[in-house]
Amino acid sequence: MSKLQVLAVASEFYPLVKTGGLADVAGALPGALTEEDVTVTTLLPGYPAVLAGLQGAEAVLERPDLFGGPARLVAGRSEGARILAIEAPHLFGRDGNPYVDGRGVDWPDNAQRFAALARVGADLARGLIPGWRPDVVHGHDWQAGLVPAYLRFTEGPAAPFVMTIHNLAFGGRFSSDILPSLGLPWGAYSLDGVEYYGAIGFLKAGVRLADRITTVSPTYAREICTPEGGFGMDGLLRARGADLSGILNGIDTTVWNPGKDAALPQTFTRKTLDDRAANKAALCARFGLKPDALLFGVVSRLTTQKGLDLLPASLPTLRRLGAAIVILGAGQPELEQAIQLAAQPGEMGLFLGYDEHLAHLIYGGADALLIPSRFEPCGLTQLCAMRYGCLPVVTRVGGLADTVIDANEAALAAEVATGFQMPVADTASLDLVLERVAAVWEDQDAWTRMQRNAMKAEVGWARSAARYAALFRELAA
Ligand code: ADP
Repeated sequence: MSKLQVLAVASEFYPLVKTGGLADVAGALPGALTEEDVTVTTLLPGYPAVLAGLQGAEAVLERPDLFGGPARLVAGRSEGARILAIEAPHLFGRDGNPYVDGRGVDWPDNAQRFAALARVGADLARGLIPGWRPDVVHGHDWQAGLVPAYLRFTEGPAAPFVMTIHNLAFGGRFSSDILPSLGLPWGAYSLDGVEYYGAIGFLKAGVRLADRITTVSPTYAREICTPEGGFGMDGLLRARGADLSGILNGIDTTVWNPGKDAALPQTFTRKTLDDRAANKAALCARFGLKPDALLFGVVSRLTTQKGLDLLPASLPTLRRLGAAIVILGAGQPELEQAIQLAAQPGEMGLFLGYDEHLAHLIYGGADALLIPSRFEPCGLTQLCAMRYGCLPVVTRVGGLADTVIDANEAALAAEVATGFQMPVADTASLDLVLERVAAVWEDQDAWTRMQRNAMKAEVGWARSAARYAALFRELAA
């Protein structure tokens, strides 16, 4: 098999820049695809953190004007992965979160910033770099959605485009007035182009114009074709059903490895599970919690998508069960406040913010991880949790349904359970599932068996990388 060249277009890439699971996926997939004889080069906005993190950086092209200022395309590496970064200080020279300013408000020129990313992606698809044209372009989320729009409304041979939806809730919607500033003709503003309910939809354009569409779990691929899960795009997605598939995300099992994790006070494996107790002790000590109680963890954006607005109402249940909880997250201010106010001393540890190190300690120390999402395209935290013997407690939606085996009677008897599912995200279901968790916790042998099953579960990229590779090869042919 010859090596296939794929250009990935993404707005995040672990370890250079991360706000969520998109970064993990964009960062891990290139390494996994190497095993499939696919070489991935990732095009990223040249945020300061990206440019600072590149090894062997070298300018390959200059552009006197990219959406209002000069730009350079810089090639380099991040831990072996090939990166092309768009150095354009007027668009990307801002520290911190890639999408919002220090007050959490969207940058006013986000449409132009990510149109610029897509524009360069489209130009690369046409062979912008002399002597190199990718076989396939793979765009992640709305930030890459305009790639096929630029290809559609310009001339010449180009690589096929795959649009991957990581979360349909973020559609990249902007007022139609800005169309000329994106360098697209008014002809692009149509049902078959970028028009989306009287506005411009970046992700809509990607979904409409891509050669293939993937999303990050089989169940989510079905859910987005329904009015409840479709964010107004379910009709279009149903119409494109033949080109839509769900490929589960994995996690990078070298980054997420409890046997070698430097962030843990005590590493452990399935065979040395008893050692895990030292991590729980450290976690409890840090937050002043009783070390012997059933300990839940949360590592999440604090948003209604993630169902964490349900938490305050279920704290009395946790209290009655004698359990404690450690929460790491940041998000909607009203939700942060509600959680803060609901806790009584000694039952909750709360860290509002983003902390990679603490995330590892929670996976490696808490007994169970709470993920009561209303919808979840794939979810990565349940995979991290399983790998670290922390049992996920999830809603039966999206990728959570596809990756967690519920501890029902049959699964417990067959010793295959890896976590707990609740049917819907509401208070009654959450209270009920918390009680089910506590009941299994009473039987420590059953709990340990579940931990071992969870740690054994296939959460890496191998299978899904093979599916992406097959899709890319089919398109390239
Ligand atoms: P999302 O919808 O936010 O992308 P995922 O479950 O797909 O959710 O991915 C979340 C990723 O971000 C995981 O790697 C998780 O460990 C990490 N994460 C989420 N919140 C935090 C936080 N507050 N601090 C550190 N890591 C976090």
